[in-house]
Amino acid sequence: MPTPAPAAPLAPAHPAAPPDPAAFGRAHNFTAGPGALPLDVLLELRDEIPAYGGLGATIFEVSHRSDAYDAIDASAKRLLRELLGAGEEWHVLFLQGGATMQFHQVPLNFLRADASADYLNTGVWSAKAIEEARRFGRVNVAASSEDAAFSYIPDPAAWTLDANAAYLHYTSNNTIFGTEFHATPHAEVPLVCDASSDFLSRPLVLAPHGLVYAGAQKNLGPAGVTVVLVRESFLATRKPDVPPILDYGRHTGELFNTPPVFAVYLVEKVLRWLVRQGGVGAMDAAADRKSRALYDRIDRTDFYRGTVRPASRSRMNVCFRLPTETLEARFVRESEAAGLIGLKGHRLVGGLRASLYNAVPEASVAALVAFMDGFEAQHG
Ligand code: PMP
Repeated sequence: MPTPAPAAPLAPAHPAAPPDPAAFGRAHNFTAGPGALPLDVLLELRDEIPAYGGLGATIFEVSHRSDAYDAIDASAKRLLRELLGAGEEWHVLFLQGGATMQFHQVPLNFLRADASADYLNTGVWSAKAIEEARRFGRVNVAASSEDAAFSYIPDPAAWTLDANAAYLHYTSNNTIFGTEFHATPHAEVPLVCDASSDFLSRPLVLAPHGLVYAGAQKNLGPAGVTVVLVRESFLATRKPDVPPILDYGRHTGELFNTPPVFAVYLVEKVLRWLVRQGGVGAMDAAADRKSRALYDRIDRTDFYRGTVRPASRSRMNVCFRLPTETLEARFVRESEAAGLIGLKGHRLVGGLRASLYNAVPEASVAALVAFMDGFEAQHG
């Protein structure tokens, strides 16, 4: 077999000017997930089809135990560690089954039948995680914002935490309702975080966590892989007799079975792109600028109305309403015609939602704000 291409360099000294998305027929993409990927990454992918370097095939047509794939897997894990500052005590796993499988796999591994786990219920995804945990042991819902349609993050002062819980599970960003934790929860027990929709958009305070998981398809890559970070000391507390495919411990060494090679391959490219942009700190600053521009526009007049209490607003999923549902439907239609896609709110809540993941350029937010100005001028 020909020698595989060398791994691409991490960060060029002077990154090239970004390509113009419109020149490639790309719309401004605000989809909630799977969401926008960086154009740079897509062009790199295009260049590596139908053959990757000297391999004579694409990377997703050769063995996952080949040197070429091995280099990609190792690079993705190394980059994740670097970006998050995760030391040797952390295992990085690329699993399948989506974040939904983590709802099941976490309690399967860590919640014993005679034990209890704490959960914060901040929306649909937390509720699904709670439902799965109840199959295994007791669940203490330490706080919930269900009383106000999940429009806020409950005040930590009112959480009823259990110092003997196996862990405290929370959803750092609620994709559907548009709320986000702006501080890491405090608890005496290890934290377990579903970070699917704000992963790598800001620094993650790893120290209090035992496990963090994130489906890739929002901030990290295509659907098909879930990143799991699990701390060795937390892993050591897992139950015996977990079926091997679902036992985190079986995935920490060499590849247990065929990984989602295409998804990991793209994730590795997104991670290199992220480093070139300046890492998590740069994403954090950009998320601030993008979300502030949009919330400022929403708050400027009464025509648009944010649905979330200001202190709990998500920087990733900005949810808002218009005076009538007819106008909302019109907004979706006309924005699409103007090259802004994915703005329809989740079917459970209606309204509008703009997802501002890492790969959404600031120019897209400026285009949305300009469209909103024009729409209000016409219909307000
Ligand atoms: N958690 C969160 C926060 C999500 O946004 C989603 C998907 N939108 C999920 C879990 C479920 O992910 P999946 O469909 O990949 O299982």
